[in-house]
Amino acid sequence: MNRYAVRIGSVLALALSFQLCGLARSNAAENTTYIYNGKRIVFTTLLQHAGGPAVSADDPGLHDLVKAAGAALSWDPDNQYVLITFPGPSIISFAIGDAHYLVGSVSRPAAFAPFLRDAHAYVPIDDVLRALKLPPLSAAPLPEASPAPKTPVPLPQSTADISPPPTPPPFATPQPSPQPAQVTGVDVQSQPGSVTVRIGIVGNGSYEWHRLRAPDNRWWIDVRNARLTTAPIDQNAGDVVSSVRVRQQNGDTVRVALSLSAANQVDVTPGADGITVVASARTLADAPRSGLGTFGSNATAVATPAASPSVQYVPTNPRLIVIDPGHGGSDPGTVRGDTQEKSLTLDMARHVRDILVARGWQVIMTRNDDRDVFAPNDSAHDELQARDDVANARGARLLVSIHVNSYVNSGPHGVTTFYYKASDLALAEAVNRRITSELGLKNNGVIKDKLYVVNHANMAAALIETAFISNPDDLALLQSAGWRQKMAQAIADGIVDYTENN
Ligand SMILES: [Zn+2]
Repeated sequence: MNRYAVRIGSVLALALSFQLCGLARSNAAENTTYIYNGKRIVFTTLLQHAGGPAVSADDPGLHDLVKAAGAALSWDPDNQYVLITFPGPSIISFAIGDAHYLVGSVSRPAAFAPFLRDAHAYVPIDDVLRALKLPPLSAAPLPEASPAPKTPVPLPQSTADISPPPTPPPFATPQPSPQPAQVTGVDVQSQPGSVTVRIGIVGNGSYEWHRLRAPDNRWWIDVRNARLTTAPIDQNAGDVVSSVRVRQQNGDTVRVALSLSAANQVDVTPGADGITVVASARTLADAPRSGLGTFGSNATAVATPAASPSVQYVPTNPRLIVIDPGHGGSDPGTVRGDTQEKSLTLDMARHVRDILVARGWQVIMTRNDDRDVFAPNDSAHDELQARDDVANARGARLLVSIHVNSYVNSGPHGVTTFYYKASDLALAEAVNRRITSELGLKNNGVIKDKLYVVNHANMAAALIETAFISNPDDLALLQSAGWRQKMAQAIADGIVDYTENN
């Protein structure tokens, strides 16, 4: 609730300052040059926004850059989306007011939520660059007042957090037929529990579909390079889909929009003579939000996959371990006198990191100082998801979250290790085994619990409640720097045990 109020407030404040000071915009906007593969890209709408530089989605420089990277950018004012589409295929999407953006089905925290100003959509430019695997604006050569340099300036070396050198994404040859496809009709059939929408198309082409986040349950598919040869359609379809609308959206796009009753499962199947969309009454907690493909003689279903727990996770960086020190910043965790959970977890996590790094592992911490990972006073959901994002976005091997337990009385003591997914169990057991054997703590067991951080990590994850701050003996241990070092050693040993057997 607080977060939402703050976000709206900051957008209003921007709008207000613009109203009060007519020159604000021209003063704030700067021309900034970015060098991509020796090509000068000039951003003309750059603004300094709290959180980082912002650029308008209709900035010609931004379009040049995205195009040079082999992608296309579009701004959909009806649905408040900025989309960057690779023919690869993958989709990067920013939504107005949403401080996360999607790369395929992976959610990443943005520097700030994209906002509307003066009917222009502004997006965090550094996140766009990161999504394109390019260095951030601050790492690019500064603009020069003098004319363009004669020799192209090479792209700066990628910084530490941008591992792969910028390579253009795989570029499937785009296949818009010169002859527009014809959408000849849309047939809607309601069955108990589902609705089937058949989009009849003559010709070849591509499509993409999107859905908004619940509770806004709009879903739509855009058929590219196509003409609608029937009259626009508005049809009610029953319980699962309250309405179906078909329009010539613009010169070359036909849009079929569904109003869903909830976050329904929607399957899209392209074929030789059109596209079949089936919306089922079944709802998905984490419904995929976009996909694309081609129809006609080369029909391919290339919708972005849902994050499916049944698919075995393959780390893109198998040498990377993410350590999550519980709490931090505005959230002290559990507290006893001057002793705060957030400081204990950070200290233990730093030791775990140092031990693992010394043993040749790459380690990233979700936080390395006393701060909130998402934002101060944020919701538990945003804060915990931000921690998962750190590991998920980097394709880490595993995630371990370190906490301190507490109870209403001083009785309970010892270590408890939590897991949730089947793939977590071996990790949780390995860590718990080392902790109990190396520190001689009471073993409260390895317990299955649907804890957010563990459940939303794509990889094996475990959460350790190291000891009870509410128990005097455990508290004395927690307050001992030497004991925390030993705990870190045991956690690191457990992690290494796990990696050797899994
Ligand atoms: Zn905690």
